[in-house]
Amino acid sequence: MTYQERVKEHILKWLNQLQRAEKEEMLYLVSRWQEVEKVLSEMILDLAQKEGLSRNQLYRLEEYQKFLNELQRQIKYFSLDVGQKIIQQQKWIGGFEIIPGGLSLRQGNLWIGLSREGTPIYELLKESYPETVIRITNTLLEGISLGYAPEKTARLMREDLAGNLSRALRIARTEQMNTFREVSRMQMEQAGVDSWEWLAEEDACDFCLSQAGKRFPTEQGMETHPNCRCAMLPVIEKRSDSNG
Ligand SMILES: [Zn+2]
Repeated sequence: MTYQERVKEHILKWLNQLQRAEKEEMLYLVSRWQEVEKVLSEMILDLAQKEGLSRNQLYRLEEYQKFLNELQRQIKYFSLDVGQKIIQQQKWIGGFEIIPGGLSLRQGNLWIGLSREGTPIYELLKESYPETVIRITNTLLEGISLGYAPEKTARLMREDLAGNLSRALRIARTEQMNTFREVSRMQMEQAGVDSWEWLAEEDACDFCLSQAGKRFPTEQGMETHPNCRCAMLPVIEKRSDSNG
């Protein structure tokens, strides 16, 4: 087995481990979100039982104001929690040596906790609050004006809320893989590796399978789709050639 193949095996093993860790993380986020829903459920059902309210009347309603306060509080704590969880995972990923026995990355701490766009992850998650309020309020008013059974309106409102969970899951997954790739790239730079090969797993999508095996310069990151699990394999043959 060549050195290159050993590195490939090492990375595939790590991807497997990463996938297991991700599954645990997702389960945690789901259970954490269920707590949020539990706190808000009763308030939602109460609101859904109102009849003949206009938008203005709803805004003046004390129960509605209370609900909004609680919603904001819940989204804030959920976001903080999810943000912490993502940062933990990023730190763990930062310790991975893409080249076994090579450098591990401590400088990674500089950008851990930031999303790819440079926004703190917690802010990114919290941003959903205004949008959630608009969505849930429209559903509530629609339910009232169309005379839906309160249970139906409440269920639709909870579905609106669930958007926050799927958003959190998507951000967690994306940031995790972005961290992994950025760690890989920085380690290759430090080790003087000048190109990487697109490494796709057997069950990757058609696009990624079409990229598999292609080589890119180390300065270039991996441009891919959300939820992609592909990795960057350092190209090492050239170095061993020049060393004789
Ligand atoms: Zn992929």
